Amino acid sequence: MKIGCPKEIKPQEFRVGLTPAAVTEAIGRGHKVVIETGAGLGASFADRDYSDAGATIAPDAKSVFDTAEMIVKVKEPQAAERRMLRKGQVLFTYLHLAPDPDQTRDLLDSGVTAIAYETVTDVRGGLPLLAPMSEVAGRLAPQVGSWALQKANGGRGVLMGGVPGVQPANVVIIGGGVVGTAAARVAVGMGANVTVTDRSVPRLSYLDDIFMGRLTTQYSSAAATADLIRVADMVIGAVLIPGAAAPKLVTRDQLGMMRPGAVLVDVAIDQGGCFETSRPTTHENPIYDVDGIVHYCVANMPGAVARTSTQALGNATLPFVLALADKGWHQAVSDDPHLRAGLSTHAGRLTSRPVGEALGIEA
Ligand code: NAD
Repeated sequence: MKIGCPKEIKPQEFRVGLTPAAVTEAIGRGHKVVIETGAGLGASFADRDYSDAGATIAPDAKSVFDTAEMIVKVKEPQAAERRMLRKGQVLFTYLHLAPDPDQTRDLLDSGVTAIAYETVTDVRGGLPLLAPMSEVAGRLAPQVGSWALQKANGGRGVLMGGVPGVQPANVVIIGGGVVGTAAARVAVGMGANVTVTDRSVPRLSYLDDIFMGRLTTQYSSAAATADLIRVADMVIGAVLIPGAAAPKLVTRDQLGMMRPGAVLVDVAIDQGGCFETSRPTTHENPIYDVDGIVHYCVANMPGAVARTSTQALGNATLPFVLALADKGWHQAVSDDPHLRAGLSTHAGRLTSRPVGEALGIEA
């Protein structure tokens, strides 16, 4: 199969759909790969890295879209990209169609067979193509939060690990899922005093087991949150209620109870945020102050570490890319119900029931 990978054109997107390592794997199985020139630069992969792996370098996106039987990307296709899709072609990328009727209509009009990363499932009921980005955002959260805690950035001027004779920072992580666990790992590693809260007791038991006394777990309730944020230097919001906006777990009034210069890192901002005072920010201007509390609310945190994120995403997508290329999309989704869960549109028909329900289209 001829696999194509264009340069991402959504603003602030530096990741790329295929790594040179993925190209090597595909070429090794007899496929052809065409990469748009400069596609990997944001993730520090040069054209030369791709051509050494056996890819052909195309001068522009049109050459990629015109010749490839399958397009592998990162972000949902933008309007200009959607105009280049066609019937019989496979598109494998993040789509997030439910809130996006324009994109859904364009994909249906094009006739493309679109498979969404975010709805591919695994045997444990997880979302294996979302999890790597949660791992990245979670590990980044204490890192950016510790930067925001520095005096010059408006923070309390507290060092995460303290020093001998001086207390470490108190870090509260609300939500102990993929993001929360990854955040806990880094915050514990930095020497902070870490508490994780969750609504799931089994999840708290799991965290208690794997961290072996190096953090404290707490069942999540409004009262527990109020107690914890009073003495927190950093609060990381990492909750998710699948398919719903994030619940607001810290109100504006409560900011006044917090230590001046404490930091809120709202990783759940892509679902609306779990602090009342959160609003999305960008990597260029990531923090702002409300009532003396520093807020960090970047909605695409993995973009800050585009190379790591590209590699992590590529590791997760590669087995599916290879299955689609080796077998053709129809056989690949017939053989694998987890990949089938990602199938969103085919030949002008919507094939995802949740998207259909969200948009009022028959699926
Ligand atoms: P997850 O499903 O693995 O974990 C969410 C956890 O929140 C679960 O353990 C759940 O029990 C818990 N939870 C639900 N309600 C709660 C409450 N009231 N109090 C405490 N815990 C509660 O999800 P995840 O992969 O860890 O993702 C968390 C959030 O981070 C999501 O909104 C996701 O979209 C977001 N995210 C953001 C970025 C970014 O760049 N900003 C990147 C990746 C993920």
